[in-house]
Amino acid sequence: MGDTIFDKIIRREIPAEIVYETDDVLAFKDLNPQAPVHVLFVPKRALPTLNDATAADAGLLGKLMLAAADYAKREGFDKDGYRAVVNCNEHGGQTVFHLHVHLLAGRRLTWPPG
Ligand code: C5P
Repeated sequence: MGDTIFDKIIRREIPAEIVYETDDVLAFKDLNPQAPVHVLFVPKRALPTLNDATAADAGLLGKLMLAAADYAKREGFDKDGYRAVVNCNEHGGQTVFHLHVHLLAGRRLTWPPG
């Protein structure tokens, strides 16, 4: 399994603006935000892509999504709404191969995405 920039953030080897943490999930602000709020939720136990997830990872995937929803409620943008998305491989726009959920909020998001 690759050692990505997110693994280094999880190990605190490189800095990131961490905003949320549980035993299984770390969340930090995206360096290149696409919305007023753009936070990445990453599992501490890495999976490269969503394709690599199996039934054994169901709990971890659930925890990732619940962490994003919990953070949204905590920060108070749950009512206006937000988007939680996973990019997978080249056509999905994935650039860091450590599975992560993008949480985007703070403006009206358009659909479909580009
Ligand atoms: O879904 P994708 O793999 O493209 O998302 C990776 C995200 O990681 C990008 O939004 C990029 O801005 C972010 N990133 C970051 N800090 C880094 C490297 C990438 O926030 N050091």
